[in-house]
Amino acid sequence: MRTQRHAVMILLFLFIPACAASTGLIRGKAPADHVERQLGKLAPVTLGHDLSMLNAKEAETLRLLVRAATCMDDAFLRQVWEENLALREELARKGDPLFIDFYKVMYGPWDRLDEDKPYINELPKFAGANYYPIDMTKEEFRAWVEAHPHDKEAFESNFTVIRREGGSLEAVPYSEYFRDQLEMAADLLRKAAEKTGDSSLRKYLAGRAEAFLTDDYFRSDMDWMDLSGDIEVVIGPYEVYEDTLLGYKAAFSSFVCVVDRKESDKLKMMEDCLNELESNLPVPDRHKNFERGASSPMKVVDLVFSAGDGRAGIMTLAFNLPNDERVREAKGSKKVMLKNIMNAKFDKILTPIVSRVLSEKDRDRVTFDAYFNHILMHEVSHGLGPGNITLDGRKTSVNVELKDHYSMIEECKADVLGMLNLQYLIDRGAMPQSLEDSLYATYLGGMFRTIRFGIGDPYSDSAIIQINWCLDKGGFGVDEEGRIHVNDSKIKEAVKELAHELLMIQALGDYTGAAAFKEAYCRLRPEVRALLDLLKDLPVDVRPVYPLEKEVLEG
Ligand code: ZN
Repeated sequence: MRTQRHAVMILLFLFIPACAASTGLIRGKAPADHVERQLGKLAPVTLGHDLSMLNAKEAETLRLLVRAATCMDDAFLRQVWEENLALREELARKGDPLFIDFYKVMYGPWDRLDEDKPYINELPKFAGANYYPIDMTKEEFRAWVEAHPHDKEAFESNFTVIRREGGSLEAVPYSEYFRDQLEMAADLLRKAAEKTGDSSLRKYLAGRAEAFLTDDYFRSDMDWMDLSGDIEVVIGPYEVYEDTLLGYKAAFSSFVCVVDRKESDKLKMMEDCLNELESNLPVPDRHKNFERGASSPMKVVDLVFSAGDGRAGIMTLAFNLPNDERVREAKGSKKVMLKNIMNAKFDKILTPIVSRVLSEKDRDRVTFDAYFNHILMHEVSHGLGPGNITLDGRKTSVNVELKDHYSMIEECKADVLGMLNLQYLIDRGAMPQSLEDSLYATYLGGMFRTIRFGIGDPYSDSAIIQINWCLDKGGFGVDEEGRIHVNDSKIKEAVKELAHELLMIQALGDYTGAAAFKEAYCRLRPEVRALLDLLKDLPVDVRPVYPLEKEVLEG
């Protein structure tokens, strides 16, 4: 806490005030070299898709969807801060490209990559964003709901903002508060629904247009699960992470995507093998689990435009929606994997990492194909291994028993089974033999990207565990120059033994075992830390440049 405050003070000290005579919102800015450094952490990438495979009607539908998505930009900007639209306009008028570019990623005057420190003006970001009155506390909200039980549902709704009216608090529905943005979005969605030849898409878009005006998203969330054409789009209020005060309010977001049929079919093939893969797990048969419910659908797509919450800060590799538990119970949820973002992160982040940390012999063995297949199989592998378990006659589940260690063990399991299962499919002839040559070097390189998320992150902790385990088992080694490599003769066995270890912790719901395992393996060793030190100046993420945005909005 102390260091954080210290950092803010330094930043404020360096702030450059705008000229005293200036009017408008911008009173001061962080130094340009600071903003340039921060923006430099995000490598720009062009994200497109060959639209010639879509017929003219669908291509036109896609353009309408891009325009509808930009309404989510405007609505989300207002959710972050009421003055945001005016600030955006002022930045555009003053024409400072560096600050305009940075603002486009940050969706407000606060730096999302640096604990929301302000880079324009000195106003700290309110934890409740613009969802609540800026002077409202959690306690006041709770006391109000306690004293006015009939307000509870509207106050805790995902789709209202709270406003202060005289001496009291009131809930205003999104459809009213964001009327300008939502009416325009609804209009464009209706036009897109008329245009498309895809009946599943038409149903979703028409339903979503209505939801924007009624705040009832249930029906169209259900329809979204059934999309079956070439366009995959999600638009509306979804995640609640921007509301760090209470976690109730959903942020407007959109992802406009084109389905990759070939990769989606491959994913389907992997899922169809679930029972066979379960049989192959290195644990006694009594711990194998053939009674999982039908798994949720997964799709592979290329992202051609994103907006609002879906574009702010770090770019996601995949999303899993909807969040409405009623839909999840009826239809599960859908996982959409963004292949061109994965490709961009591979080129801009993983490739430079690999060239610095891997031994010479392994550098050229790292391929996008192996990286991508491992991500797909990681997702499929979450559906394998113990889920509901019985301990001394008591019915329980792995996540209940492993508590705070669950995420780390589960992510580690998915990574390791991802490798084990790909090797199994290669051996069985279902995946090409050539994949084996790149698989393990890519796996090793990929973990150095993940560790950079920081200690305590379940993905990062899981990567540290895998590296240490494989170093101890001789599956990985460090050369004289301090670079790391794969030992082909030992890696397969190391992966299998680790899979056994993790699955047994899960099968036995062994909390103490999980804690001991973490204690033994989740420590950054000096040889690994030395390699991480070589990566400090590399970008941490990508920021999208969408050709379709240019064409539709500027062309
Ligand atoms: Zn995972």
